[in-house]
Amino acid sequence: MILLARSISALCVLGGVAAAEPTVTVAPAKVHPGDPVLVTVTGTTDAPRGKAGGAKLQFFPAKAGFQAVFAVPLDVNEDHILVEFTAGPQPLSIPIVVETFPETNVTVEEEYADPPKEDRVTIDADNAAIGASYARATGAPQFAHGFHRPPGAVTSTFGEWRTFNDGHRAQHLGLDFAAREGSPVAAIDDGVVALVRDTFLAGTVVVIAHGGGISSLYFHFSKASVVEGDKVTQGKRIGLAGHTGRTTGPHVHLSIHVPGGMVDPASFIKLPIYPTVKLAAHTSGHRLPSASTSSAMNTASDRPH
Ligand SMILES: [Zn+2]
Repeated sequence: MILLARSISALCVLGGVAAAEPTVTVAPAKVHPGDPVLVTVTGTTDAPRGKAGGAKLQFFPAKAGFQAVFAVPLDVNEDHILVEFTAGPQPLSIPIVVETFPETNVTVEEEYADPPKEDRVTIDADNAAIGASYARATGAPQFAHGFHRPPGAVTSTFGEWRTFNDGHRAQHLGLDFAAREGSPVAAIDDGVVALVRDTFLAGTVVVIAHGGGISSLYFHFSKASVVEGDKVTQGKRIGLAGHTGRTTGPHVHLSIHVPGGMVDPASFIKLPIYPTVKLAAHTSGHRLPSASTSSAMNTASDRPH
């Protein structure tokens, strides 16, 4: 276990280190609202069970022990988040550092700035479908290597507050990348296509379930190249960039959902996630949605853009 512990020595060790006791590490050691947190437990042969900030941790076997990812909710009110285990390791308290997100003004067509009532019904149905798709990410990781960031310059960051046409405000729950209309967009890692849907605000959406509770979401496609249930590998084309939905021009919007909510994709991609289990391409299939949609789009009715 010493070697395993050394391999993650860059992380902050918060747990006990007594012999025969499981060791818990978290990365990063200090977190902001909207950050993903990676929990690694070593020194145990059984998958740990626990929760963080109310979200159930979905542990999977990893290069070193077991790992799980969760979100620090963007609307968290506490100055810390607690990671608790059903048995074994002691609870950990991770300090939360307040972050002020940038503010911008965005001008879009009026129907998108303040959608009329009938469109809000569509928006609610879109969000319910996206939220339900997260249940497909439950279970063993479908990926064996790190996530790849899409190419292109970042044109808008996670968490930014936008005021539309001097009125309605919404928070940006993803990362935007510059892309030409019609350029191919690739899956950032292996997984199963959990949802393909034409939505009002996010345009044509593709959601990929990666397992371990991790989903990646791609918005505003001009066209999707996959259908629900398709198995995709990292780098495979899943659609063409576009500007469908509420946009000011063609780009690729990437969101990452993990247990607890949406997280900053820029931070997520840096996490040292090393699952050791990769399912065969055609196992009996991912699980059907059964879990609640409690964290669907963080319950906001109008955030995608
Ligand atoms: Zn965006």
